[in-house]
Amino acid sequence: MDIHNKRFETLSVTHGEHESTTSDVAEDVVVPIHLTSTYAVGGLNPDADLESLNPDAGEYLYSRLSNPTRNALEHRLAAMEGGEYGMAFASGTAAIVSTVMATVQPGDHVVAFDDLYGGTKTMLSRLFEERLGVDVTLVDARDPDAVADAVRPETELLWMETPTNPLMRLCDIAALADVAHDAGALLGVDNTFVSPYFQQPLALGADVVVHSTTKYLNGHSDSVGGAVVTDDETLAGEIRFLQQVGMGNMLSPFDAYMVLRGTKTLPLRMERHQENALAVADYLESHDLVTAVHYPGLESHPQHDLAKRQMSGYGGVLSFELDAELAGVEQFLGALREFPLAVSLGGVESLVEHPATMTHSPLTQAARDELGITDSLVRMSVGVEHIADLLADLERGFDALESAQEKTAATSD
Ligand SMILES: *Cc1c(COP(=O)(O)O)cnc(C)c1O
Repeated sequence: MDIHNKRFETLSVTHGEHESTTSDVAEDVVVPIHLTSTYAVGGLNPDADLESLNPDAGEYLYSRLSNPTRNALEHRLAAMEGGEYGMAFASGTAAIVSTVMATVQPGDHVVAFDDLYGGTKTMLSRLFEERLGVDVTLVDARDPDAVADAVRPETELLWMETPTNPLMRLCDIAALADVAHDAGALLGVDNTFVSPYFQQPLALGADVVVHSTTKYLNGHSDSVGGAVVTDDETLAGEIRFLQQVGMGNMLSPFDAYMVLRGTKTLPLRMERHQENALAVADYLESHDLVTAVHYPGLESHPQHDLAKRQMSGYGGVLSFELDAELAGVEQFLGALREFPLAVSLGGVESLVEHPATMTHSPLTQAARDELGITDSLVRMSVGVEHIADLLADLERGFDALESAQEKTAATSD
């Protein structure tokens, strides 16, 4: 089937669905959840090549290797990222560890953004550096020259995220693809933060893209999963080996169904996430008790030009600095009702998170200081609710902060 003349909004609703419907009972419009762990093969086939079963040709043996529901999702994910090969994993973490594992060996070197997702940073240091003898250099990848300077002859992989969490820093995917390819290395991009609807790293020159589908792709905060998409056949083969045999960290049929369902509304959700986030960012930027707002859609974002160049939208995550000490931040957060205090992001419901004591608490104070993660930094995943309710809620937070600050001032007078 030629998918290349279809638009994203069409692929995200139907692509993969029909090809993988194996039911002989009815012409399902939606692929069922194939819960079976194994498949009756009908008879002996001494010539069968178990290493390369083709699910598209109906070749199924065992569900860890392939499953019709997962296969449908893998086709959908590849189409949405504009790539050839898609693979669905049990988590974003599983997708990342498999991709990095497929590209490096002991003695190799990786250059990564110093502002990566906390779990990925820990994985790179505790698993790849400490156990597997892979050297990792973290750099401020906002500057492509800093990345180029960190590259060595044994560098096999550049690992990037853009925008980053929680400071919404960007790196220039096209420039870094040049740096990687000049060095004979691959560029991997974690595209979780704005989804393929707003940013397509493969088209900008990246070699492989990963996602935590837990976030925008599933979009409803009710499934944990991950994805990898690449055009590189050899790399895809290595990653698939790890997914199916080397690690067995594939996505379950139920979660594959959840993500298939979630992706159908991704374009609609992303538009509303962005509209709401921009309104929240504008409101925060004009507030006296806010000293900084980090959102790539704002003209005040130092990399707004790059954002306009490589993204078609800015997503729903932003962070900001309150003009308050930790106690004041607590008052603000405690007064919010539409923004439960919780990690994760990308669901239809708004969430608020305090990086210094939650996602980034495993870092030392010095490491947080160096990254710019202060006690007064607050991150929001802005959902798709009515904007008036979200702004009214923030007003409630600021009222609580103001009265707490007045009380402190009164007692110290
Ligand atoms: C959440 C997240 C991950 C990890 O994904 P899990 O599904 O939690 O394993 C990786 N990268 C980014 C940018 C994330 O936000």
